[in-house]
Amino acid sequence: MNCPQCAAALAEKRLKERPTAVDYCEKCHGVWFDDAELSSFLGVPARNLSAPANARTGTLQCPRCAKPLVLFPYPGTMTVIDGCTTCRGVWLGGGEYQEIAKARPATPAPQPRPKLPSPDPAKVETAGVKRRMINFIDRSIESLWAGIRG
Ligand SMILES: [Zn+2]
Ligand SMILES: [Zn+2]
Repeated sequence: MNCPQCAAALAEKRLKERPTAVDYCEKCHGVWFDDAELSSFLGVPARNLSAPANARTGTLQCPRCAKPLVLFPYPGTMTVIDGCTTCRGVWLGGGEYQEIAKARPATPAPQPRPKLPSPDPAKVETAGVKRRMINFIDRSIESLWAGIRG
């Protein structure tokens, strides 16, 4: 599999204390997460995390299935990332995850919990899945950086 950004061969990187390996570009520092990688970690199908239906098509091609990747904002930030709506993989470019790390403080201030009259179970579940994906990607990025720097 080759990098969608610079076409270099992607290297498999095993993350510390995780059964999952991700595909990493040693040249431009992008990371590819397969649907199966996200699903096995989160315990839910990654299609629940899919890009919005109105997401626009970007300039990159999916390294897995060669379909155009669509652009959508990484949850909780203004950083736009690339996702494949066919095989459900997610690509984070090298510069993108540095932006995400900057945009997301390591210890966010506790937020007062808003009182919801009757939460829709489906919406609550989606929010939980999204949070787990964010945590997963954050930790993955941290271990990758730790591996690169160390
Ligand atoms: Zn690359
Ligand atoms: Zn794909």
